[in-house]
Amino acid sequence: MPVTKKVSLGNKHIEQQQLLSLINNMADGVIATDENGLVVLYNGAALNILDSNASLTSKKLNQICSLIDKNNQQVDFSHLVLSSKKSHNTRDLRIKYSDNSAINVYLSIAPVKLGYGKNDQKGYVLLIRDITHEKSLEDERNEFISVVSHELRTPVAIAEGDISNAELLVEKGADLTQIKRILSQAHTQILFLSGLINDLATLGRAERNALELDIEEINPHELVQELVDNYTTQATGKGLDIKAKLDSNLQLLKSSKLYVREILQNFITNAVKYTEKGHVIVGANQKPSGVMFMVSDTGIGISKADQDKVFDKFFRSEDFRTRSTNGTGLGLYVVLKLAHLIHAEITLTSELDKGSEFFIFVPNLK
Ligand code: ADP
Repeated sequence: MPVTKKVSLGNKHIEQQQLLSLINNMADGVIATDENGLVVLYNGAALNILDSNASLTSKKLNQICSLIDKNNQQVDFSHLVLSSKKSHNTRDLRIKYSDNSAINVYLSIAPVKLGYGKNDQKGYVLLIRDITHEKSLEDERNEFISVVSHELRTPVAIAEGDISNAELLVEKGADLTQIKRILSQAHTQILFLSGLINDLATLGRAERNALELDIEEINPHELVQELVDNYTTQATGKGLDIKAKLDSNLQLLKSSKLYVREILQNFITNAVKYTEKGHVIVGANQKPSGVMFMVSDTGIGISKADQDKVFDKFFRSEDFRTRSTNGTGLGLYVVLKLAHLIHAEITLTSELDKGSEFFIFVPNLK
């Protein structure tokens, strides 16, 4: 039973019914109290937000819900309302439920007159809206901006420093090999930035579900060999051995070549990045309904606890060996989004200080 009417509107019965129906149909919770802060009227949405089935009539605000602030401190709801001299609102409070879960709310408090003429009473009208989803998007956006600006700053600063050094050296007529070395350092940073921009662009499109699936025939043998060739200079430059391990009866696979390549590239980039010595193997095995690709390394490995988180947006391990490399924590998040689009399944096995194996089963699509 949502709205309980205690406010008399005299003979204006129809008007009153319309008003009650309007309040009952509002998506936001509405609660009106008398001047002592006792509830006189409320709607169904208010009961939903308060997660209550019981009547709120004549109850004090403190009795109907537990409000907490940003620091999880209890807020005296009745006092907050009764001390309001003019309308105001806040987006910083949360309602805490008996099971200790909480939602973020928009709360507007307005001191009003309830009723007309002789029945004139003072009171307060509260509007409550669940903004948990909006809040989490806001938090995510703020985190996104801070991570991205932080990740941009370092490579931009290095590249800028390198290029101005190179200019100085040119003016001084310095040795060309020295200038070339500095420019190549700047080049590496620019390549990182362009990788980051690509990740962000793919992420943006994946999140808007605007990615199109272009299904074509993929030759897994050729794809793996091509990737291994592309990464050979980078891997051998670090003293790593990189090779392909291919099933002899690999068949053509129908899927998105672009996404399968992008996923494998992410795995290989990480394998090379997080491995100091040993090898990186890129493999493909024929399965009845598709191909199982594998990228394994003998690198720093991923702890059990981190294995659950590596596909989360922005996640980077706290391990100092991870932190000493450049990265945004977006690569595997994008990988998961792309894998989802092509109905592929990813599994990860890893042991700290031993290495990691990322498997992805890519099914044949129609
Ligand atoms: P980034 O490499 O930019 O940090 P990713 O999303 O590609 O972001 O990876 C997330 C995290 O997962 C990395 O920061 C790292 O901690 C861990 N990780 C991914 N691949 C490997 C790997 N092959 N070996 C060890 N750790 C890895």
